[in-house]
Amino acid sequence: MISAVEDRYRAVVERVAAAALRSGRRPEAVTIVVAAKTFDADAVRRAVGAGAADVGENYVQEARIKARQLAPLSIRWHMIGRLQRNKVKPAVSLFHLIHSVDGIELARAVDRAGEQAATTVPCLIEVNVGAERTKVGVAPEALHEMLDAASRLSHLQVRGLMALPPPGSATESRRGFARLRALRDRLDDLRLPNVQLKELSMGMSSDFEEAIAEGATLVRIGTAIFGPRT
Ligand SMILES: *Cc1c(COP(=O)(O)O)cnc(C)c1O
Repeated sequence: MISAVEDRYRAVVERVAAAALRSGRRPEAVTIVVAAKTFDADAVRRAVGAGAADVGENYVQEARIKARQLAPLSIRWHMIGRLQRNKVKPAVSLFHLIHSVDGIELARAVDRAGEQAATTVPCLIEVNVGAERTKVGVAPEALHEMLDAASRLSHLQVRGLMALPPPGSATESRRGFARLRALRDRLDDLRLPNVQLKELSMGMSSDFEEAIAEGATLVRIGTAIFGPRT
């Protein structure tokens, strides 16, 4: 049990590298974001001890507590959960990347917080690739307009897209990943100012290999590292 997190993290690193190589990509092109919701600072410390450098959290408050407890370690914190409007201000100073900007209103709030903090906030736009079954994220047909609006915000920088396909088989997820990648390719060609769609945040414990095959640059993995959440 003591070494379980370390061993599982290393096993995930190997699977990520193998999946990248199978698609002719470099293993370094894929960053593992350790999805740590509900797991304590000690569990995160073990993953970091095994080499993890990027940790994802779903709640600002939980992230703040762990960031304080783990302050001496160098960790890049990622916001991967739904970001509440009243948590934008602390989020902007805490996170290296916000994956979950799911509409123009939230983008504007992040931009304002960035301006107040005299910084530019790196963000991903969350896209609803499973429109019929979930409600979170920007609809694919609204994405162009959303990016146009976001490109005019000077304290927010769009770095890519994120998706959380509805639960299903890895084969079903892969369709969502392919869709996100196609959207990225099409919209990146428009060369909107201040928008650079390099990153694709997609894939979790059950489907990260499929996501990597479709071009994921960030995979968000919890269960495969920490074991099941109780
Ligand atoms: C929990 C979570 C993950 C990781 O899920 P696992 O199945 O535990 O790997 C990834 N992304 C988001 C947004 C999550 O909330």
